[in-house]
Amino acid sequence: MMRRACVIGAGPNGLAAAITLAQSGFHVDVHEAQSTPGGAVRTLELTLPGFRHDFGSAVYPLGAGSPFFLSLPLASHGMEWIHSPAVLAHPFDDGTAVTLERDLAETRNSLGIDGTAWDKLMRPFVERWNEFAFEILRPIPFIPKHPWLMARFGAIALQSAEAVARRFRNPRTRALFAGMAAHSFLGLDEPLSAAFAILMAVPAHAIGWPIPRGGAQSITDALCGVLSALGSQVNTSSPVLNLAALKNYDLILCDLTPRQLITVGGARFSDRYKRRLGEFRYGPGAFKVDYALSAPLPWKSADCLRAATVHLGGSFEEIAASEKAVRMGRHADHPFVLLAQPSLFDSSRAPAGRHTAWAYCHVPNGSKVNMLDKLEDQIERFAPGFRECVLARRVFSPADLESMDANLVGGDVAGGAMDIRQFLFRPTWRHYSTSARDIYICSASTPPGGGVHGMCGYHAANMALSRLSRG
Ligand SMILES: Cc1cc2nc3c(=O)[nH]c(=O)nc-3n(C[C@H](O)[C@H](O)[C@H](O)COP(=O)(O)OP(=O)(O)OC[C@H]3O[C@@H](n4cnc5c(N)ncnc54)[C@H](O)[C@@H]3O)c2cc1C
Repeated sequence: MMRRACVIGAGPNGLAAAITLAQSGFHVDVHEAQSTPGGAVRTLELTLPGFRHDFGSAVYPLGAGSPFFLSLPLASHGMEWIHSPAVLAHPFDDGTAVTLERDLAETRNSLGIDGTAWDKLMRPFVERWNEFAFEILRPIPFIPKHPWLMARFGAIALQSAEAVARRFRNPRTRALFAGMAAHSFLGLDEPLSAAFAILMAVPAHAIGWPIPRGGAQSITDALCGVLSALGSQVNTSSPVLNLAALKNYDLILCDLTPRQLITVGGARFSDRYKRRLGEFRYGPGAFKVDYALSAPLPWKSADCLRAATVHLGGSFEEIAASEKAVRMGRHADHPFVLLAQPSLFDSSRAPAGRHTAWAYCHVPNGSKVNMLDKLEDQIERFAPGFRECVLARRVFSPADLESMDANLVGGDVAGGAMDIRQFLFRPTWRHYSTSARDIYICSASTPPGGGVHGMCGYHAANMALSRLSRG
């Protein structure tokens, strides 16, 4: 008889788990609470007709570099990556901007006195991207397959961004590094914050930070297409409220965070495991705004028009202060803003001549504070006249984000804090397995963590398959 598996949640990790199980000959039922699959990888008309906005994720260094996604025929299911001429722009008050170029040699030249230091820091990982991606996109092993490479990474990664940024003499390079480290949601003086800058910069040079033509939804649609070709489908508007309702499955994989796992499956788990799950810590939240615009953003620096992603926060010190405030449970007066402007490079996102923008800043988990003015002040600072271009905006507080994807607990976009403990034991020392033999967790709350790469789902499904075959 054909073996049967159930996957709860059709985010990228749930879909990756479902595909991996279906590739092994399982019939897979996927249950998704929302009316469209994708979780934080969906594109919706959030403002005006014809303006297509990415509800969650928008830019995909790890999506394009994911070993699992690369193994799938996503292009034959309509997936196409678009690369903006520069990977990232980081503007300053004087009307100039520093850009991160995809080509490492070009970046070395553009960073002037810091070019050599940047090159020395990134090149060992850029040149061995395939081995590096294999190591970083899985649970941290006791003995890595590439020990020297990982020892080198560990020596940098465990430091704070503040410590590593001292290698750079130009404040502009330090600011560029800070913007990438701020993706960690950690204080820039905390250990491990440097790791995130490396994990953002290395794929920038090795892969790029592409956007998908048509938006995030095209990644999800391609994953659903692959799953359907393997004979399984996603059931939408089908929330699972209790695992007890799922009968006759050999395996159940949950694209859920620990808090939800306790709610739906509590009765199936040992008290000890539930206690461990209950100790899982969520990270800060996001306050997000989607814009329909009458024109491209009126940047002071024309270099900002070359990049799909723009980091708005000024100097290293300002970005560090913004992230520190959030870590202390406060709201930054001058928040660091991550902005994407996909319609500049993909005309399918907006009606002719019109544009979209996507922006968010970090706030304490579950924050109810309206950050709209502060967020827009940061955009105006580098793109004066921006507010006059706004045709419509849609604001998402952390609670609004969670209402559209229950995994975004308190607005946490990464499936849980990424401090040293949860870097090593995510969500517990068991990683994907639980105290119930047939139930596994496969969301971004497992290794390697947040981001659209599908590797949590892939590894969870492989662990489930190998344990099942061992009996
Ligand atoms: C605003 C924002 C910006 C981001 N930017 C980026 C970016 O630019 N690049 C990047 O790589 N990553 C980004 N991310 C992070 C990335 O999107 C997530 O890490 C990734 O989507 C996690 O995938 P997942 O499958 O674990 O969870 P999700 O994508 O959250 O999917 C979980 C799914 O499970 C469903 N679900 C929950 N409970 C139930 C239930 N009881 N029954 C049935 N279904 C259920 C949800 O509806 C959802 O569809 C961003 C996220 C957000 C929110």
